[in-house]
Amino acid sequence: MESFSRRNMLAAGAAGAALAAASSAAHAATFGNPDEPPQGKINANPGSFRDPGPQNPALSSQFPDAVDPPATDIGDLAQFWSSFNNAHKRVQNGGWARQVTQADFAISDTFSGVNMRLAAGGIRELHWHLAAEWAIMTYGHCRVTVLDQKGRPYVQDVKEGDLWYFPAGFPHSLQGLGPDGCEFVIAFDDGNASEFNTLLVTDWFAHTPPAILAKNFGAAEETFKSIPLNDLWIFQGKEPGPLAEAQAAVASSAGSPPFPFTFSLSGVKPFRDNKSGTLQIADSTSFNVSKTVAAALQTIKPGGLRELHWHPNADEWQYWIKGEGRMGVFNAGPRVQTQDFKPGDIGYVKRAAGHYIENTGTTDLVLVAVFRAAEYQEVSLSDWLAHTPLELVAQHLNIDPAVLAKFPKDAPGLMPA
Ligand code: MN
Ligand code: MN
Repeated sequence: MESFSRRNMLAAGAAGAALAAASSAAHAATFGNPDEPPQGKINANPGSFRDPGPQNPALSSQFPDAVDPPATDIGDLAQFWSSFNNAHKRVQNGGWARQVTQADFAISDTFSGVNMRLAAGGIRELHWHLAAEWAIMTYGHCRVTVLDQKGRPYVQDVKEGDLWYFPAGFPHSLQGLGPDGCEFVIAFDDGNASEFNTLLVTDWFAHTPPAILAKNFGAAEETFKSIPLNDLWIFQGKEPGPLAEAQAAVASSAGSPPFPFTFSLSGVKPFRDNKSGTLQIADSTSFNVSKTVAAALQTIKPGGLRELHWHPNADEWQYWIKGEGRMGVFNAGPRVQTQDFKPGDIGYVKRAAGHYIENTGTTDLVLVAVFRAAEYQEVSLSDWLAHTPLELVAQHLNIDPAVLAKFPKDAPGLMPA
């Protein structure tokens, strides 16, 4: 059963009314919806709402809030929905990748996203790039290798719910492990970063004179006679041996990095935890190396609401992992839009723009949000109002201070708490 809401009240008021437009507009005014002219299906007669086509029912059925926006939506916002689901897949023997950069998703200037699969033994070849690479594992097992700026090597295995972070320019590799490789999502801290244009070890070898390679490595030119002349990017390799052996094999006199480049986000004690779900945070205060990316793993139970809030310090890039939900975004203007999300989708909210997320499905909704910032920061609307003189708030909202006093006081994160 749907909750009691202004929207439902409005719908009830409009039900069966032949002159729906006039009557529900009046109701809208009663409930404080000032949109002029009134918007939404509840303010329209049936003829004005019908969509004669052309139509793609399979696609439009995925977006009920775009097809039939809440009457409270108003104005234009830049598209804040995108998806890996319809992104081109570059498939090679060993795995595949697809990406959504700012070229595909204009609003997303702080992050570009990559979704990658590596088969067991599949290798994303040794490479580096200009952006920092943050990633979350969503399936299977993967081995990462990286060398830091002081020549200190790091090798680790990661599983679902784990993160890695490679600072810009640090050389690294990824390899799927048994029994069935891995899948993960990378967020580069630059909207223009591309996984299809990285500095590849094979490219450099192939385009360096053999005599230079020979001198550089103190080896005979013959050593390089079989190097690949085209890059590998992703290729099928053989599964590596035990982790401890690999770690021992790469040991350097420079020592080990002071902080790990991997982190268990799903294993951290939740920052918020109640009957509607959990929020788990990983930023540079806990995942020390992650200086440019703060992350929040959000689990919202069926019927739960990620409370109205905003982030004062950074835009939010979201990867929707499980379940389904909708997000309403508010900005100055006013500009308000509501959109629906499913697994594999990407959401984006500009810094300081208000938003909420509601689980509209019957299973847990899980999404991860990243922010190009060293520290996770959030402002809760209810927490703000609860810690502002109630008489002052009451004069803004025309709500009885006694009722305001019962609003949540400690930023529950998720409601009902
Ligand atoms: Mn990389
Ligand atoms: Mn948020």
